[in-house]
Amino acid sequence: NYRCRSAFKLLEMDDKHKILRPGLSVIDCGAAPGAWSQVAVQRVNALGSDPNAPVGFVLGVDLLHISALEGAVFLSNADITDPVTLKKIQELLPTERADVILSDMAPNATGIRELDHQKLINLCLTLLDLSQSILRPRGTILCKFWDGREAHLLQNRLMERFQDVRTIKPQSSRKESAEIYYLAKLYNDGVKHQKH
Ligand code: SAM
Repeated sequence: NYRCRSAFKLLEMDDKHKILRPGLSVIDCGAAPGAWSQVAVQRVNALGSDPNAPVGFVLGVDLLHISALEGAVFLSNADITDPVTLKKIQELLPTERADVILSDMAPNATGIRELDHQKLINLCLTLLDLSQSILRPRGTILCKFWDGREAHLLQNRLMERFQDVRTIKPQSSRKESAEIYYLAKLYNDGVKHQKH
């Protein structure tokens, strides 16, 4: 049983785009109540349920409290934009860097669409900055945003840093909802690769 219906969005996106696999190390940003982390624990084999596959790691971070989940490590009451949180993430990661950063983060909506849009884009941009210290080269980011005028700015920033950037609208996301995800693969860590 999942803690929240949002689990189905991640399952759907992962089935289609192969984001998670056994052995990967994942940071789940905006993890409360923990449904995405539940999916991640299963898919990276964080509990070692499959003895023949490599064992992964899941670290969830949220402003709110996240109830304990077997196979995951949680940083509750932690703001991803706070430098102290970055330090704690680095201490908790078993490997120096994560393979995947998931973000289903959403700021408290004011109801003013343009403002909410900007706030969420800014959160995603913060995540992109954090990637420099916690995402491994060729790593992946999946981040939620609300559509609006600054989406292209985020997309451009992602395209500067990742070789493969896609826009995904999961079926299981409510039709009327403006939420969309960017899936950015093959992080280049600031290293310029020659085009061919
Ligand atoms: N993916 C989660 C799940 O499946 O259970 C649901 C996530 S919920 C839609 C969005 C979460 O983002 C909220 O719990 C909120 O507290 C968190 N959030 C918003 N801003 C944040 C920030 N600056 N740092 C950490 N978490 C944040």
